[in-house]
Amino acid sequence: MTPIFSIVLPVYNEHENIPELYRRLNLVSKQLGHTTEMIFINDGSSDSTLKIVAALSKKDRRVRLINFSRNFGHQVAVSAGLDHSRGKYIAILDSDLQDPPEVLPKFFAKLKQGYNVVYAIRRDRKESWWLKAAYAGFYKLLSVAANINIPLDSGDFCVMDQKALHCMRQLPERNRFVRGLRSWIGLKQIGLEYKRAARFAGTTKYSLRKLFRLAFDGIFSFSFVPLQLLTFFGFQFFTLSIVFSLLIVYVRLFTDFFVPGFATTIILILFTSGLNMLSLGLVGEYVGRIYDEVKQRPQYIIESKIGFNN
Ligand code: UDP
Ligand code: MG
Repeated sequence: MTPIFSIVLPVYNEHENIPELYRRLNLVSKQLGHTTEMIFINDGSSDSTLKIVAALSKKDRRVRLINFSRNFGHQVAVSAGLDHSRGKYIAILDSDLQDPPEVLPKFFAKLKQGYNVVYAIRRDRKESWWLKAAYAGFYKLLSVAANINIPLDSGDFCVMDQKALHCMRQLPERNRFVRGLRSWIGLKQIGLEYKRAARFAGTTKYSLRKLFRLAFDGIFSFSFVPLQLLTFFGFQFFTLSIVFSLLIVYVRLFTDFFVPGFATTIILILFTSGLNMLSLGLVGEYVGRIYDEVKQRPQYIIESKIGFNN
């Protein structure tokens, strides 16, 4: 039977959260009053996540499982969930209960008013001050640098209709920044505020490295500004070098002023070679992404699927 609602749930070592998540989703699904499928994407967990979800799926036909062959990352897991959703309305939810399932009816109701995407905006974050500051800085940078408008403080938590889902599925890129892609597709979108809870159990599965990679994907997948900055600085330095050359010729020809200039030279060399390296790094970010795309590898490998035959 085709479900009306699909709920996409990426899970990576969330065994402590799944029973509570399932319990609360179950209540919400009753409230929604239509058939709901819960699509868990096991992103290479090393704890008992797989076993727990598989057991749930045995008991409850609405629970479906996509089991990745290894950890491919949250954004890819979400994309796999979208690829497998069959519902008329789709939700993307974190599995640690930071995104409370209880707000879903309100979000779905908004879709019925004619919106294609309703994304969640975090009203207050239960995170450390330095992480909050980093997030604020990142979203600011993104809104300044990205060519598209990614709403401030919106995460991946959202609901969408089939039209938006269809558009999302058409985007083949490997370095995925889901909230950016979601904004990129356009259509009718609206943000709704919600109170982001603290994690129910366990610790964050986003290491600092993963968080940085996500931030880089956000910037480099949606913006040429870093490259344009390079051109800008290149011009500035070029102009500066011409001015200095003229100045040196003038000093040499028309004055007796002798400049040792050792420190200045060293500083200039260090500065410009630093800038060169940084520039190469920036270009490398793009080249690496181009390389990823031309290899045309699938975004993920599925080891097994459970519950998709009914
Ligand atoms: N997650 C995932 N793969 C990963 C990292 C995280 O599927 O490599 C899932 C995780 O299980 C959770 C969601 O993505 O359901 C968000 O992760 P987390 O709560 O750790 O991130 P945070 O909320 O701390 O940013
Ligand atoms: Mg979380």
